[in-house]
Amino acid sequence: MRIGFFGAAGEVTGSCTLVETGECRFLVDCGMFQGGREARTKNLNALKFGFDVRAIDFVLLTHAHIDHSGLLPLLSVLGYRGPVYATPATIDLLQVLLRDSAHIQEKESEWQLRHRRRRGQSGSMQPPLYTVAQAEAALKLLRPAPYREPVRPAEKISVSFHDAGHILGSAWLDVTLADAGKPRRLVFSGDLGMRDRPVLHDPEKVADGADVLLIESTYGDRLHRPFSETEDELVAAFERTRHTRGNLIIPAFAVGRTQEIIYILADLVRRERLAPLKIYIDSPMATAATHITLQHPALVDSHTHELIDWMQQHPGKIKLEFVADVDQSRALNEVRSGAVIISASGMCDAGRIKYHLRENLPRSECSILITGFQAAGTLGRRLVDGARLVRIFGKAIPVRARIHTVGGLSAHADRTGLLDWLRGFRTPPKHAYVVHGEAAASAVFAQAIQDELGWPRPHLPQLGERIDL
Ligand SMILES: [Zn+2]
Repeated sequence: MRIGFFGAAGEVTGSCTLVETGECRFLVDCGMFQGGREARTKNLNALKFGFDVRAIDFVLLTHAHIDHSGLLPLLSVLGYRGPVYATPATIDLLQVLLRDSAHIQEKESEWQLRHRRRRGQSGSMQPPLYTVAQAEAALKLLRPAPYREPVRPAEKISVSFHDAGHILGSAWLDVTLADAGKPRRLVFSGDLGMRDRPVLHDPEKVADGADVLLIESTYGDRLHRPFSETEDELVAAFERTRHTRGNLIIPAFAVGRTQEIIYILADLVRRERLAPLKIYIDSPMATAATHITLQHPALVDSHTHELIDWMQQHPGKIKLEFVADVDQSRALNEVRSGAVIISASGMCDAGRIKYHLRENLPRSECSILITGFQAAGTLGRRLVDGARLVRIFGKAIPVRARIHTVGGLSAHADRTGLLDWLRGFRTPPKHAYVVHGEAAASAVFAQAIQDELGWPRPHLPQLGERIDL
């Protein structure tokens, strides 16, 4: 058996692992590289030169995030026609996320062409990584694999998807196969969520006895803050904004974070820590993701069901308004006081959130609530770093609104959470690999596995590395 690491090796994006045995070849995830100048080149190279796409028998997807799924359309463009197994909720989310990703690729190509023409340069349009039509072709390859119902994508191979508690439909994978006649068990963590967090179930425990393990390490070098502190910060921001009579603007990732914020705010109202609220959700993707979440009631935890029941019994306490069209969104720009708006993108560099920031950033009575990670180079990061002036749509916008950074919300388990999950293995897996982390975080986490679990130190694979087992 041979394992090839074609992404998320020494970094957090581009997840893609190739498993080859004498009998078959399959991929676990097919993610896009994101951030940084070299991402586009890496996205093109990852599939063109890494391996023969047509020789792949099947693909397994851990979850819908683009850094795990975003190169599927490219895989199909390059000739892959086999099945792609994913949970039903992941399939629903991909209908929205892959089309959106393709739309962004198309827009970027057009923008680059316009940009070149403005600078008097000639040349034709650089084609998008993939188009909306190509993404739609890839969506046709998806096959549902519900949690805990093993699928058999090839002879002598069985795959179980288990709830990873990271985003709706996310899974860790349990693969059993025969390699040269010997049974082998491979476990892929995908991205693992935090326990005891709103909306989703906790990650399912793993059973002992694996030959191969790939474990993510996004936050393998740190601990998240206690959730109660996050709630206190939110309450303080709301109180301050009520006092100053401004608006409260919350940039949030459409999938996961938006639903989590709605839960937390509704729960704070139920516990009378916040006054009754009306919340505008102004992002078509967040609206779609919220509806998909409600279409999978078995995937949300009992606390969420209780809260939804309470909201229905107390219709005056929390009002959710899903903003559908652009006119309605523009009308919100006119509101001067008392509006609570959740909008995307989460890092403020695209989508309707930019309009809300343009209107509200210059006003000292307003507050901006940053609830997620902000990558270097994004508008969100500049706000967190205390910029006094930012550019939005080419205009200089002074920052007078209060920027609140609410910590502690993360879709990823921290070091303790990851180690607790690994304790499901009473005996160390024969071959353990730490992936999906910045190099420093992965190294710290590999050391923690050795020190705290007493395992041999896991290997940190390099991009493109192939290992024979
Ligand atoms: Zn993820």
